[in-house]
Amino acid sequence: MGPEVHYAVGAVDALDIGHHVFPTEKYGLVRDGLIHRLGVAASRIHSAHEIEDEDLERVHTPAYLRDLAAARRTWATESSEMPVEAEVIAAFRQMAGASKTTVELAARWGIGFHVGGGFHHAFPDHAEGFCYLHDMAIAVEWWRAEEGLDRVLFVDVDVHQGNGTAVIYAGDSETFTYSIHQQRNYPQKQRSDLDRGLEDGIGDGDYLEILSQDLDAIDAIFQPDLVCYVAGVDPHRDDILGGLGLSSEGLLRRDRLVLDRFGRRGIPIAVFLAGGYAPQPQLTAELHLQTARAAEEIAMQYGQLRSGPS
Ligand SMILES: [Zn+2]
Repeated sequence: MGPEVHYAVGAVDALDIGHHVFPTEKYGLVRDGLIHRLGVAASRIHSAHEIEDEDLERVHTPAYLRDLAAARRTWATESSEMPVEAEVIAAFRQMAGASKTTVELAARWGIGFHVGGGFHHAFPDHAEGFCYLHDMAIAVEWWRAEEGLDRVLFVDVDVHQGNGTAVIYAGDSETFTYSIHQQRNYPQKQRSDLDRGLEDGIGDGDYLEILSQDLDAIDAIFQPDLVCYVAGVDPHRDDILGGLGLSSEGLLRRDRLVLDRFGRRGIPIAVFLAGGYAPQPQLTAELHLQTARAAEEIAMQYGQLRSGPS
């Protein structure tokens, strides 16, 4: 049987932080779009795994986890740019649980898609840039402990560098971190295994060519058992926090390029929404739904190839 896309949902309605540049409405909009517009059956939408303390302890430091557990305002929590409140932190735990589900779905079905997640600015010992917990590392390390997963590739196309991911996996030869981002933008850069810092307003053509070349270069040196696709849509030209100037069509081509490259080889892919700050949450949700549509197309294409006559 060919690959299928299965979805994980966690904290979609629970993460309510009121008027904030971080558009939590997008999660509900994406979920509803999957059901009502893409026709995704309920049997392909899964709820979040529980998060155990030991899951968090594989990635984050004891002191930081104590601050989070107490919702205590310290340098480590206040750097989140989010409310330091127990309900918000609980929502991040739930998101990390859905990332566990996503990695498991990827391993089982070919493509796991988290309607959320991608908090790549969380560090082992502190929060940063709307990110309390590094949900993806928590999920990957859980699956490694459970199932002995080996080589993991992060393909991070969010407009902001995956600085937390870079720090968490520095020196880990089983994990390759690739980030393609806008150079003159948040955050202060850390060192990924491959960083591609782009000029402002680069546009679709050059962007796609560079991305494709970088993935060729990674192919030559690293064969992953799982790809974590950090599919932020903030490179879009209308994004409030991004300045790479990609069109909606360019983002769709980007998603296809990444998903096709690994999907055609049958490498499990875990997709995370990550950033997206269009002026209207509806546009952000629309762009995330494009990623889901691209994933569905890839699953369909290779599902037919695999199950057809050969
Ligand atoms: Zn971002």
